[in-house]
Order: sequence, then structure tokens, then C-alpha cells
Amino acid sequence: MKPILPGSAIGVLGSGQLGRMFAIAARRMGYRVHTLSPDQDTPTGQVADLEINAAYEDLDAIAKFASAVSVVTFEFENVPANTAAAAERCAPVRPAGHILHTTQHRLREKTFLANAGLPLTPFRRVTSLDDLAKAASEIGLPAILKTADFGYDGKGQHRIAGTADFPAAWKTVAQSESVLEAFVDFEREISVVAARGADGSFIHYGVIENQHRDGILRVSLAPARVPNSVSHAAFDITRTVLETLGVVGVLCVEFFVTKDGRLLINELAPRPHNSGHFTFDASVTSQFEQQLRAVCGLPLGSPAQLSPAAMINLLGDQWTKGEPNWVAATAIPNVKLHLYGKLAPRPGRKMGHLTALAANVEQALTDANLAFKAL
Ligand code: AMP
Repeated sequence: MKPILPGSAIGVLGSGQLGRMFAIAARRMGYRVHTLSPDQDTPTGQVADLEINAAYEDLDAIAKFASAVSVVTFEFENVPANTAAAAERCAPVRPAGHILHTTQHRLREKTFLANAGLPLTPFRRVTSLDDLAKAASEIGLPAILKTADFGYDGKGQHRIAGTADFPAAWKTVAQSESVLEAFVDFEREISVVAARGADGSFIHYGVIENQHRDGILRVSLAPARVPNSVSHAAFDITRTVLETLGVVGVLCVEFFVTKDGRLLINELAPRPHNSGHFTFDASVTSQFEQQLRAVCGLPLGSPAQLSPAAMINLLGDQWTKGEPNWVAATAIPNVKLHLYGKLAPRPGRKMGHLTALAANVEQALTDANLAFKAL
């Protein structure tokens, strides 16, 4: 494939913070960025050369958008399959539409992983209350019922402790196609952010340790505090996922580490990932620049991490008592503040993040927490 060179325009479907940080990386390397989403004055649009306001279902707008750029990528994987297909008729789409199709639907994703012989928690398809009872009797309780489609940040999920919870769980998933998965009593959660180039080259950013609350990522530590055997198993699985899917771009694999040291895949994200935000400040090549290099057919950059790092997400909840105290938070010199330019700070909404760099992850976490508390 002929490389797409600086000066070319890159199309980003979706307009959130991932697109914003991608656009910053792309503009730094002299590319132009066009973004399309149904919203205006968006995190990506504020940084892009061109912000197009259209529905993902408006296939004429998608075709026009894709015709004006050299390659289309996305920061939002829940775009409908025919949107990706419409873009693919006008420009290369990387990662390819079939990867979106697999990873935007929990059942398809889990079926793909199971067929590839990769480890995951037992699951069953559920399409009715009767199915739910049957699935629960097969995989056991506690379990979690999740919508098959369009779930993120713990939305559309219900934890089931006993049979009395079935009706409420079925209501949470809006009585639609769902997946019941066995509850994992994990020791910790980790992720691996990796990239695959157009030439098949592969890099990863090491193992990242993640702490979630209410289904939303709160803290990431890099490197994770796990034994080498766990890291190597996680890298092998991640590489298999990228190669089997034929990813050209960045993909994140989220894992549970069980109390007896086994890895189970929780889910895949075929794009830069929240847990990889530390790479913006701590790595030779950020996950966003890596995505750019991969989709443009350039050689991948070094993923080497220059310093241990801790990242804390800033959610809209932080604004309940008014504007956070940015001066106090920036008073800690090894902590970097990122804000996404979102206009409305709603509870649970990702508004920005803090990344602390220090001699070890414990110190980085202490410093990130100091800045966070000073907000
Ligand atoms: P998800 O949106 O599916 O990644 O879920 C968000 C978070 O909910 C995960 O990162 C876990 O902290 C928790 N979670 C999801 N599925 C399970 C499970 N099967 N067992 C235990 N915790 C889970």
C-alpha cells in the first residue's frame, strides 16, 4: 500500500475526546483532519480542520465526507455497518468495517473470541425472560446481563445475584437481545493497547492496570503490577486478536485477571482506548500517533514508555460544586491536565483526565490523587 503522506486529509467518524487527541497528533504531523458526527462544537471538531454535522445514517453525507479524504478511521465504534460500507466505497476505512461489525456487538465479539480459542467468561445469548432463566441455570449466578448492542461505560448492564433480579435485569436491557455472562470475581483488571501496521508489524504498550467504578474507568496505572507470566500471556492473546481480525490501527483488549492468575478477555475496543491515554505524555509515540501511522501506512513508532504513569479520569461529577480549581490541580508540576472541550459537564461524562509521571507507579498515583483532590 502506498503511504498516505503529511498534507493529506484524514476522516474521523465520531467527534469525542479520542478523535480530539487523534486530531492533535495528526495536525502535529501536518495532516488535515475532517470529522463527522451528529453534534456541533465537538471535542474533535474544535481541533479538526473541518467539522461536518450529519447523522451516521445519512449515507449521502458519509459518501461526500469519505470522498474528500485519503483514509477514514473512527473514534466511535458504534457506527452502523452500512455507514462503514458507504465510506468504504469512497475511501479506505481502517480498521476495516468488518472489524467494527464484530466488535460493536457483544455476542459477535464473544463468538469470534471463543472460535479463536481465546479465554473468556462463560456466556449465553438471551432474547426473553425464559432464556434468561435457562442461561442463568446453565452458567450459574451471580452473573451480569448486558445488551448485545451499543453498550459502553457499564450502560445497559445489570448484575444478577438471584432469580428475583431477573425482571429488573430484563428491564435494564430494554427487553432486547442480550448476553448473560458469568460474574468474574477478579483479582484485578488490566488492558493491553496494541497496534498493527499495514505491513503486519505489531507493537504494544505493555500491561496497564485499570480500576473501574460503576462500570466507568477511573484510574489506569502503567506499567501494571502483575507478574511477567501474566504480561506475556496478555501480549500473546492481544497479538492473536489483532492478527486474526486483520487490524490495521490500534486495538485495546480488556482483561480480568482471576485470583488464580488466569486471564479472561472482557472486551475489545478497535481504537485508541481510555486506558492508553497515559501514552500521550509518557511514551515515545502516543496511541493516537500510532493510529495515525497505522492507518496512513507509515512505519509504526516506538511504543517505549519514558516514565511510569498514573491516569485519573475527570468526570462531570467533578463540576457539581462549580468549576474545578484548575490552578490548584496544575500546581503539581509532574501532573498533566487534559480537558476535552465538552460544553456540558453531566455526571459520569468523561470531561478530561490527569496524568502523573513519576519514578514508579505508586508515586505517580499519589501525585495524580493529590492533583485530583485539589480540584
Ligand atoms: P464493560 O462495559 O462490559 O467493560 O463493563 C464495565 C466494567 O464492569 C468492567 O470493567 C468490570 O469492572 C465490570 N464487569 C463487567 N463484566 C463483568 C463480569 N462478567 N464480572 C465482573 N465484573 C464485570
